[in-house]
Amino acid sequence: MDGMSAHEDGLPEVARLLDGGGVVVLSGAGLSTESGIPDYRGPDGVRRNRAPMTYQEFVAGEPARRRYWARSHAGRAVIARARPNAGHLAVARLRAAGRVSAVITQNVDGLHRAAGTPDAVELHGGLDRVVCLDCGAVTARTVLDERLAALNPAFRDAGSRINPDGDVELPDDLVASFAVAPCAACGGVLKPDVVFFGESVPKARVEHCYRLVDEGRALLVLGSSLAVMSGLRFVRHAAKAGKPVAIVTRGTTRGDDLATTRIDAPLGETLTALAADLARGTAGPCC
Ligand SMILES: [Zn+2]
Repeated sequence: MDGMSAHEDGLPEVARLLDGGGVVVLSGAGLSTESGIPDYRGPDGVRRNRAPMTYQEFVAGEPARRRYWARSHAGRAVIARARPNAGHLAVARLRAAGRVSAVITQNVDGLHRAAGTPDAVELHGGLDRVVCLDCGAVTARTVLDERLAALNPAFRDAGSRINPDGDVELPDDLVASFAVAPCAACGGVLKPDVVFFGESVPKARVEHCYRLVDEGRALLVLGSSLAVMSGLRFVRHAAKAGKPVAIVTRGTTRGDDLATTRIDAPLGETLTALAADLARGTAGPCC
């Protein structure tokens, strides 16, 4: 598709898409920045923070896992305190009103569900739960939080800058003294139930998302630079099927040449206005 056909002032077009219903939302880190959870990438799409730990590093050995859990424990309070912002709430309203048929999120912060979209598909999993790599048991992160706090009574939140997957930079000596908790059931290795860089999204989850996109009339990307293939593939899939693709996010994205509509604007404000207009029935070019 000719990238020049995407128009910058696309608000009426997004409203028209939503008015017709059946819009599938694909959201990314940019939707959660207004909740105090930073994006890995700035509006220029360039990574701002250090590279996140890969799956290969995590499973390679105990020192890496100790570093992961120490940093994650230090950043836990920020993630646990984060609340849905106007953007999440607007999406929930649009979903409840049937304008949005499904929500797929690349975020692991659980904020779509907290905002009232209980069936949001968490493409990359969620930080609110933990999986045992040995026995497969999935348990609540809050339970692990208490165990980690008990194991590390002297540990203080010495973190400076939190990353989107909920960890912070910590001095090496603090990391070295951190005690990691094993699986309470089998003593095995615990991992947050999130898809790490270098790890594949479970196949059944990917297929479920393709189905949701197939069943939808249009795809609306919110707050993602589509830098990773796990999200970009759904944009390609929708575009290939001839469905409209609208992108609302700050800065450029890897899917811009596939978009039929492109808006560079703050998400909370934009989505609130869209949801309010649709609720009032004032959306569309004719009224
Ligand atoms: Zn286990």
